[in-house]
Amino acid sequence: MNPEPAIDLHTHSNCSDGSLTPADLVRRAAAAGVGVLALTDHDTIAGLQDARQEAQRSGIRMVPGVELSASWRAQAIHVLGLWIDPESPKLKERLDSQAERRRVRMRRICARLAKAGLPGDDLLAAVEAQPGLPTRAHLAQALVAGGHVARTDDAFRKYLGKGKAAHLAAEWPPLADIVAWIREAGGVASLAHPARYSLSSGARRQLLTEFVAAGGGALEVVTGGNGAHHVEASAMLAVKFGLAGSVGSDFHDPQQTWNPLGRSLELPDCVIPVWRAYGL
Ligand code: AMP
Ligand code: MN
Ligand code: MN
Ligand code: MN
Repeated sequence: MNPEPAIDLHTHSNCSDGSLTPADLVRRAAAAGVGVLALTDHDTIAGLQDARQEAQRSGIRMVPGVELSASWRAQAIHVLGLWIDPESPKLKERLDSQAERRRVRMRRICARLAKAGLPGDDLLAAVEAQPGLPTRAHLAQALVAGGHVARTDDAFRKYLGKGKAAHLAAEWPPLADIVAWIREAGGVASLAHPARYSLSSGARRQLLTEFVAAGGGALEVVTGGNGAHHVEASAMLAVKFGLAGSVGSDFHDPQQTWNPLGRSLELPDCVIPVWRAYGL
């Protein structure tokens, strides 16, 4: 048996909150049978050059990508930019502004933690000592390392998640702006992990209506953590809204053994694959 190479259009390196360097990520993906890989770090393209070089050596096809943070009704929404031009000066400028937003936000979150009696300065220092652009995932790891919680999940449940002491309302640029950034950089915008937002089905439809109106092109129909019922529901949404479908593991770390690289992420037949509609 010689299975077809897998396609994975959503992964992270240590340029954001993944644990592998971009080159190690690409090597691991190639070894796991991935033939087409997008590196989509949170709000940064710093890893794309190393990833592309390693992809040439490993013989896999690299899709330049990014996972941008947007706001919609005070909630953070993640939009994948696929086949973006990493050399676009305008995109670089915009990513610089996202990076600054992330750094300021991390300081504010740590100040909130300090108010809650935790060592906010130490936690901030631990996050800033990491190589990647700061995310709450880094902070959750620092809370584990400092012995304040047992697991990263608990960090979100106790401190960082919605309604908790260190939660901030999303202050990212509006969804429509984020979609426009991606399109202006030559990319296609795919709305990431649609089942992960806490939205009523009416609000979800409204989100998709606005996403399409803004020029969004795809929906991430198959994503790492989701069960089969999510795939079916997302596929129906993609068809209803005339969106192509993307697939991606949202891989962060080999230690998260439930979400490996190289698993076949198959799109239901009713959905047009984004790589056919746009990229490859
Ligand atoms: P941020 O973009 O800074 O808000 O960080 C979000 C990242 O934190 C996500 O991309 C996940 O990698 C991670 N994350 C979010 N929620 C959880 C959770 N409940 N448990 C573990 N990690 C999470
Ligand atoms: Mn992440
Ligand atoms: Mn995400
Ligand atoms: Mn992701």
